[in-house]
Amino acid sequence: MDLITELRAALGGKAVLTGAADRAGFEADWRRLYNYPALCVVLPETVEQVAAAVKLCGAKGMGIVPQGGNTGLVAGGVPVAGGDQVVLSLARMRRIRGTDTVSDTMIVEAGVTLVAVQEAAASVQRLFPVSLGAEGTAQIGGLISTNAGGVQVLSYGSMRVQVLGLEVVLPDGAVWNGLRALRKDNTGFDLKQIFIGAEGMLGIITAACLRLYPPVTSQATALVGVASITGAMAVFQALRARAGAALTLCEFIARPAMELAAAHVPAGRLPFPAGAYVLAELSAHGPGENMDGALEEVLAAALEAGVATDAVIAQSGRERADMLALREAVPEGELKEGGAVKHDIAVPLGAIPATVVAIEELVGRKYPDCRLNIFGHMGDGNLHVNIRPPVGQSLAVLGDRKVQITRDVEDLAVAQGGSFSAEHGIGQMRLDGMRAHKSAVELGLMRALKRAIDPAGLFNPGKMIPEEDETA
Ligand SMILES: Cc1cc2nc3c(=O)[nH]c(=O)nc-3n(C[C@H](O)[C@H](O)[C@H](O)COP(=O)(O)OP(=O)(O)OC[C@H]3O[C@@H](n4cnc5c(N)ncnc54)[C@H](O)[C@@H]3O)c2cc1C
Repeated sequence: MDLITELRAALGGKAVLTGAADRAGFEADWRRLYNYPALCVVLPETVEQVAAAVKLCGAKGMGIVPQGGNTGLVAGGVPVAGGDQVVLSLARMRRIRGTDTVSDTMIVEAGVTLVAVQEAAASVQRLFPVSLGAEGTAQIGGLISTNAGGVQVLSYGSMRVQVLGLEVVLPDGAVWNGLRALRKDNTGFDLKQIFIGAEGMLGIITAACLRLYPPVTSQATALVGVASITGAMAVFQALRARAGAALTLCEFIARPAMELAAAHVPAGRLPFPAGAYVLAELSAHGPGENMDGALEEVLAAALEAGVATDAVIAQSGRERADMLALREAVPEGELKEGGAVKHDIAVPLGAIPATVVAIEELVGRKYPDCRLNIFGHMGDGNLHVNIRPPVGQSLAVLGDRKVQITRDVEDLAVAQGGSFSAEHGIGQMRLDGMRAHKSAVELGLMRALKRAIDPAGLFNPGKMIPEEDETA
């Protein structure tokens, strides 16, 4: 029997999509930069069906591309060129299996969207703190597989911190039930960790036990104008010194990024002119606590010292949402206006100002016709450094220069003691960075892990780890 017939028999006809139109949305990545055909798309509904599909594909040596919401920014969840691959979408596995408000945990299936998890937590007066622009579409399995960050990492940590247990289907079709709700468990290797941030290379996550937090009782949010990145860092440091872990969000938005965002939110307009902007939020979790005073105090001092040039504190939930919407609109606005050569770098916090200055100098010197769009999670040392084509021209006009631009930006980040991919991962887009910046020892360890768990290389072929002979 051929594989499609076997998959249909095991999962049901409707769970296997073969028509080009049906497959299309699963084959192109979010930025529409990669688009290669899959043999078919399978949409299992249960962990047993995932295991059955994996076994059937494995028996035929067919590669499997796990896919969540397909919002990843490095084309990790879509097929590679010229390969035999089946896309396995977790979109139909969207049950919340249970919530425990004593343990403060929630067990959710991989296909549940981030927004649905946030809402389910809120419905039992708890907080799930991961928040990012694609939260309406990104799914828990994808978020865990990319160890997603978002805008509140500086206080709550990335997805890795939120995961207490996992259920995973392995390349041989075995199911590992590691759905423990434990905060302490030193019984050998902490196996869940190898699947977090593994981009579907080692296992297919089918469910997770997530950590919940007390709800936020009050928030104080401000948009602060500064002259440059130096002022932005000074504001960040003052807020952190005053508020500590209560500083739950601290984003940097250079002026061009803010202009892009303002053009793409409903009723959008530049809030006030400034060289650059800091979006910051303080959150309290205790009854009666109020963060307004702390925020006002820091901002008054920053304005008086000339570190901040302007500042607005949100006076209502609506004003807060508008401020956050501006930040979230930056990537969308950039895409609508033709896209950019995107980078997602991390540097030590102390190196942020020097890095931004060096990037401005680099673009001015080597790519003066291009437009620099820089924004990101300043409190985590994570900057999105995006280079847009000249005004009125498409991204295609940059041609081969794109490769050199990326090499230059990545080299610069690494030279500052940083990373060339902070939160987006590697997928099929950042393999050059792996070749250029990972040591032979690191690559050797990654290959050894991959071989041990997936000796036939079935899961996500052509992603994350460059072939051995390419880096020898
Ligand atoms: C507008 C926008 C804003 C964003 N902002 C942020 C941000 O602030 N921070 C951030 O970190 N990211 C951000 N991202 C990137 C993206 O949202 C995250 O990487 C997200 O975690 C991807 O989730 P997904 O469900 O869409 O995964 P997909 O894109 O479907 O897949 C991502 C990777 O995980 C693998 N995978 C998916 N599901 C599973 C599974 N169940 N088991 C095993 N492997 C799996 C895929 O094979 C792929 O390698 C943003 C993206 C967009 C479009």
